[in-house]
Amino acid sequence: MTATAGPRLLLKRMREIMSERIAAQSRLDKIVTLIAANMVAEVCSVYLLRPGRQLELFATEGLNKTAVHKTRLKIGEGIIGDVGLNARPLNLPDAPSHPSFMYKPETGEDPYQSMLGVPILRGGRTLGVLAVQNRTHRLYGEEEVEALQTVAMVLAEMVVSGQLVDLAEVDEGLKRDRPWRAHGTAFCEGIAMGRAVLHEPRVKVEKLIADDIAEERAKLDRGVAELRAAIDAMLAAEDDVIAGETRDVLEAYRMFANDRGWLQRLRDAVNSGLTAEAAVERVQNDTRARMMRQTDSLIRERLHDFDDLANRLLRHLAGKADTAAHEALPADTILFARSMGPAELLDYDRTKIRGVILEEGSPTSHVSIVARALDIPLIGRIDGVLDQVEANDWVIVDGDTSDLHLRPTHDVREAYRHKLALRAQRQATFAAMRTRPAITKDGEVVRLLMNAGLIVDLPHMEETGAEGIGLFRTELQFMIAHEMPRLKNLIELYSSVLDGANGKPVVFRTLDLGGDKVLPYARPLNEENPALGWRAIRMTLDRPALLRYQIRALLAAAKGRDLDLMFPLVAEVAEFKLARDLVNRELDRVARIKQRPPRKVRVGTMLEVPSLGFQLPALLATADFISVGSNDLMQFFFAVDRGNPRLGSRYDLLSPPMLSFLKTVIDAAKARGVPVTLCGEMAGRPLEAMALIGLGFRSLSMAPASIGPVKQMVIGLNAGRLSAFMADLFGRSDHSLRDALRQFAHSENITI
Ligand code: PEP
Ligand code: MG
Repeated sequence: MTATAGPRLLLKRMREIMSERIAAQSRLDKIVTLIAANMVAEVCSVYLLRPGRQLELFATEGLNKTAVHKTRLKIGEGIIGDVGLNARPLNLPDAPSHPSFMYKPETGEDPYQSMLGVPILRGGRTLGVLAVQNRTHRLYGEEEVEALQTVAMVLAEMVVSGQLVDLAEVDEGLKRDRPWRAHGTAFCEGIAMGRAVLHEPRVKVEKLIADDIAEERAKLDRGVAELRAAIDAMLAAEDDVIAGETRDVLEAYRMFANDRGWLQRLRDAVNSGLTAEAAVERVQNDTRARMMRQTDSLIRERLHDFDDLANRLLRHLAGKADTAAHEALPADTILFARSMGPAELLDYDRTKIRGVILEEGSPTSHVSIVARALDIPLIGRIDGVLDQVEANDWVIVDGDTSDLHLRPTHDVREAYRHKLALRAQRQATFAAMRTRPAITKDGEVVRLLMNAGLIVDLPHMEETGAEGIGLFRTELQFMIAHEMPRLKNLIELYSSVLDGANGKPVVFRTLDLGGDKVLPYARPLNEENPALGWRAIRMTLDRPALLRYQIRALLAAAKGRDLDLMFPLVAEVAEFKLARDLVNRELDRVARIKQRPPRKVRVGTMLEVPSLGFQLPALLATADFISVGSNDLMQFFFAVDRGNPRLGSRYDLLSPPMLSFLKTVIDAAKARGVPVTLCGEMAGRPLEAMALIGLGFRSLSMAPASIGPVKQMVIGLNAGRLSAFMADLFGRSDHSLRDALRQFAHSENITI
C-alpha cells in the first residue's frame, strides 16, 4: 500500500460500507476484508472487549470463520491481550516467538509469521484490538502502524455508535453510565445534589474522516495558532481572572502548545485521513492510554496537561473556546474541573452553583477560599474524575464525608434527598431565628458576628442575621489576585464592605500572610517552620510600607464612619505599639492632607500567641479591643500543627489548660472594661461556643453558616448555671472536659 493514500482510500470505503443497509455483522465482516486488502495483509481480525474483560474475535478475514465469537482471550493474555492491556501497538516480524504468544488452534493461524496489533481506543480506554497478519517475516512500516491506528479509531467510533455490534455485547466499563463513587478531600463542607457541568466543556467530534486533507491541515494550523494566542493572552491578562495555580497550569500549556512532538503527531494523524478534530482526539486517545498506564506522578501530570491542552484545542477548532460560565446552566449545577482559579469560579452565577468537584486543589488553594465564602461544598483531589463524568450526569457531593457519587442509584439518591430535606428544615428553623436576638434564658446577651474576607461574603450578613463582621480577613483579597491590589482597588473594596455592613460593625484585620497563606505573586520563603516564621505582623512590621498602604486604604474607605482594625499574630505588647504607631502616623497624614477622617478609630489585636496572655495588664492598657484567635492559639498553646490531620484530635480546646487560659484572658479584660471577641473556628461550634459563654465570653465571631446553630444553643442556655457548673472543672486533670460539657447540655435540654 502507499502509506499516505492508502488509509484515506480505506476510510472513504469504510464510510461507504457504513451507509449500506446491511446487518451489523456483515458490515464488520466487510470492513475486515477491506482493511486486509488495503493493507496487503493476509489476515485482518477485530477483537472486542466483552463484559468480564475478555477479548472476543468478532470478525476476521483470513483466520477460520468458525472461530468468530468463539475465540476469547483474557485482557493481558496472548499478543492480542497484551495490546489490549497496555493500549499500545505491537509490531512483530516474528509473532510466534514473542513471549506473550498464545496458540489458539481453532483460528488456524499457524502459517502467519508477522503481526501488527493496535488497540481500539476511545477516551483512552481499550475497546478492543485490531490486528493484521502476514505469512512473511516483516516489520510493518511506521506509516502502516499510523494508518492502522487511524482505522482503529474510526472503528471505535463505529462500535460505540452501535452501528457494528450490539452494544449490550461489549464491555460495560466503556460506558460512562454506571454509578461511580470516589473519595476525595473536602475543602468546603456541605451536601449538594445536582447535575454535572464541565467547566471546560468537551467537544464531541462528529466528523472523523476528512473530505479534503489540505483543508483539514490548514484548519489544524489555524486552531493551534489560536490556541497559542489565547494562552498568551490569558497569561498577559492584567485583571484577576487568573491566579496562583491556574497561572502555573497555563505556563505548562504554553510550553506544551509549542511541543514539536505533539504537533507532529497531530499533523501525521491529519495526513492519515482524519479531520482536524478527529486528529486531536486520536492523539488524545494515545495520551490518555499512556496516562492510565503511568504510575510516575510527574509524568502523569505532564500527560494530564497534554490532555487538557487537546481539549482546549478541540474547543478552538469547534469555535467554543469559552468555559461553561456563560452557558445556560441547570439550576442545580455541580461544576467539574481539573483545577480552577478563584475568579473563574466567581464568573459563574452563584445562585446556580450547588457544588464543585476538582481533580486537584488544596485547602489553601484560592478556589477553596472562594468556595467557602460562597458556602459551596467543594471536594478536591479526586483523581481521574474527569474521565468518569459526563455532562448532565446526576451528582451528589457529600462534603461532610468527602464522598462523591456520580450517577447514584435510586436508593442513594433517595437517602440524600432525605438528608437534604432534613437540612432544609434545620435551615428554615435558623432562618426563622434570623432576627431574634441571641439572649440566654437568664437574660445574658451574646453578640453573634460573622467572619468574612471577600465581597461575596457580605450577603450572608443579611441571610444569617449576623450583628456585624467580627473578623474581616483582608489577606484573602490579596491571595486571590494575581498581583498586588492597587490602593484605589483596596479603597473601593473596603468601602463596599462598610457599605454592605450598613452601619453594623466590621473589624478589619490587617494582612495575615505567611505560613499557609501565600501570595501567588510573592517569592516563596522556604522556611523550615512557616507557622513559626516570618508571617503576619512580623512581616508587615518589617515591610511597614505594605502595612501603611493598607491602613491608608482603610482610613480612606472609612471616612466619616467608624473604623475597627486589628493586627494578627502579635506576640508582645511592644510589637502592638509599633503597629499602632503606624496607624497614628497615617492618621496624621489624613489630617495633613485634609482628608475626611473616620468618625472613630479603634485599634485592637488578635490574641493568638500565648505569650500575649502573660502581658495582659500592659496589653489591656494599650489595646482598644482584643480578638482571640483560637485556631492559632491552639497550635501554639499545645505545640500542635493546626494543619496536621494526624494531630487533629490529639488535644482538645475543651480541656482544663486551654479553658483556664481563656478564663484568665476574659476575666482580665472584663475587669478593665476592654471588649473581647473570640473569632476562631471554636466560636462556630455550638458545644465550644457554649463553653465560651460559660467562661464569660459575650461576643463570638464565626463562619456565617454557624450563626443559626450557635444562636439556637444560646437561646436554650442558662449562662449562670453553666458558669457555676464549669467552676469546678478547671482544676481537673482530665484530657478533655468535652463529655462533661456535653452531659450538661443534655441535662439542660440545650441543642448542640
Ligand atoms: C485564628 O487563628 O483563630 C484566626 C481567627 O485567624 P486565622 O484562622 O485567619 O489564622
Ligand atoms: Mg490566626
